[in-house]
Amino acid sequence: MAETEVAGLYVHSPFCSAICPYCDFAVARGRAADRARFTEALLQEIELCGSGGPEGGWAGEAASRGARRFDTVYFGGGTPSALSLEQLGAIRRQLAATFEIDPAAEWTIEANPEDASPESLAGWREVGFDRISLGLQALDDRALRFLGRRHGAADARASVERAREAGFLSVSVDLIYSLPGFDGEWWLRTLDEAASLGPDHLSCYELTIHDGTPFGRRRDAGRLRETGEDERAANFVATHRRLGGLGYRGYEVSNFARREADRSRHNRKYWRHVPYLGLGPAAHSFDGRRRWWNVARWQRWSDAIEGRTSTVAEVEQLTDRDLLLEAVMMGLRQRSGVDCAALEERFGIDPAVGNAAEIEAWERAGWLRITGRRLQPTLEGMARADRLAAEWELPES
Ligand code: SF4
Repeated sequence: MAETEVAGLYVHSPFCSAICPYCDFAVARGRAADRARFTEALLQEIELCGSGGPEGGWAGEAASRGARRFDTVYFGGGTPSALSLEQLGAIRRQLAATFEIDPAAEWTIEANPEDASPESLAGWREVGFDRISLGLQALDDRALRFLGRRHGAADARASVERAREAGFLSVSVDLIYSLPGFDGEWWLRTLDEAASLGPDHLSCYELTIHDGTPFGRRRDAGRLRETGEDERAANFVATHRRLGGLGYRGYEVSNFARREADRSRHNRKYWRHVPYLGLGPAAHSFDGRRRWWNVARWQRWSDAIEGRTSTVAEVEQLTDRDLLLEAVMMGLRQRSGVDCAALEERFGIDPAVGNAAEIEAWERAGWLRITGRRLQPTLEGMARADRLAAEWELPES
């Protein structure tokens, strides 16, 4: 069962030098003093988790399954690359002193191209990161200006080359598509150019315009028109076809790797119900049965740690039915699909029972391929994964 696999560790750093107009993550523009306070609080949170608090859950049920051991560590944000090398080094040392981290663990850092100088990249390698996820987002200046990014296309290209020179074992790049005013041809050119830089892995996300963000307000005022549903679906399929042709297989809705070994080990834990511990503001944790998350505002999170009160905003207790539905949904978003036999063994319920007519219809429509008891989404099926999952019926437990 997935829960018996070694867990993953996530560290959220909330600071960004400026806030992008489409961003709805838990982020803040921090001064040096804020970053110092955050780092100090994070070091304390690691220590508290090691000793069983403040939430207490991780050290209980999950620890009994060996979940204080980790074989992936992922620094995300925000922009973890906005922390100094001293701060990153201190966090790493505290993690290593508190938890049992596999010597062959995958250590990922998210970084923005404007922070990726040769000196910083060498420093991140020295701190111990071996995988880097670079937030390129686009490869031309007009699109980067539209997205409100601080880097230019030349910085984006150079950052990939410099990451290689610094000796990162795996280099991933993030791109965003379906930007209003940028057509499908523009997107294919972006993919071609990104692939020509030779990353090991790509994550391609569709632009989502969230309420309450500057883009959301522009949309509400009629000054920004979201890309239509048909065009977005066409972009999704084109992304997988183009990158597949360039040697990058889409193993999940948004993720592409050259080789199996280049797939994100950390993110795959999220999709397979492997436990994870999240540290820092807004970070989510999962122990196989419960999911809990920290308060989003970094000051409130720091206050809680300094005052030795709980950082947890909410705890969600998941039933077998909840977990099974999630497993179906995550399966439909991955090439590997839904393994009904494995899910029946795990939950005692065959998720296909009660959905036979729909499954047959989806196979006829070309959205699913059925091999034995495995249901694998085709590209067209992956494009509709969330909709298919929403139609899935399970018996009440
Ligand atoms: S860099 Fe990333 S996390 Fe920071 S504001 Fe922009 S989109 Fe959000």
